[in-house]
Amino acid sequence: MHRIVLFGAPGSGKGTQGDLLEEKFGYKKISTGDLIRAEVKEGSAIGKKVKNIMEKGELVSDDIIIEMVKNRVKQDDITVGYTMDGFPRTLDQAKALSKLPVEQETAIFLDVDEDAVVERLVSRLTCKNCGAIFNIKNKPPKQEDTCDECGGQLERRKDDNEETIRNRISVYRAQTEPAVKYYRENSTLYEVNAAGTVEEIFSKLEEIVT
Ligand code: AMP
Repeated sequence: MHRIVLFGAPGSGKGTQGDLLEEKFGYKKISTGDLIRAEVKEGSAIGKKVKNIMEKGELVSDDIIIEMVKNRVKQDDITVGYTMDGFPRTLDQAKALSKLPVEQETAIFLDVDEDAVVERLVSRLTCKNCGAIFNIKNKPPKQEDTCDECGGQLERRKDDNEETIRNRISVYRAQTEPAVKYYRENSTLYEVNAAGTVEEIFSKLEEIVT
């Protein structure tokens, strides 16, 4: 089992690259943001508890997220490996992940500057149905507002507005950078300049992963 861990600020391309890694290598993308949004959509007890937190761009508690990840990695659609998108986001999450054994782990940091991520996120569109990610500027859907993958309706995520994005970036600096530092110090962390096109970045990831 091979685990890829994608680090990077919101909008650095973790979700998009995670989808491509799944398509090419069969590593299932595990997006904790998608797991949370599914709970909110379903209106479950957890969903009700975390809806506001998520919409403000704050972090959901470690206990809830760690439990979700532990359950997700046990499912049998995961065969050759999985990619973590959006987890770990705190030092405690990083420590919890290191207790979930895998034969091989590759941690990659997608490096982009703040202005670029704000621009990417305000022009991002997400499928309401399957979570596929598009971008009006650099990855437009074939048909306006319609998902290329499943035909679902595309929407702008509630937390993809400039004010919330700035908050997500400061939450990232305060809470997630320590997790990145932990990886940098305790394992190998590949650093990738993620300022280019989706294809350019993916070819760098392919080299690292294979
Ligand atoms: P994302 O789709 O990764 O941008 O995540 C969207 C939102 O879900 C975040 O702003 C948090 O509110 C919540 N979330 C996702 N992953 C985590 C995590 N690992 N820890 C805490 N909250 C998370």
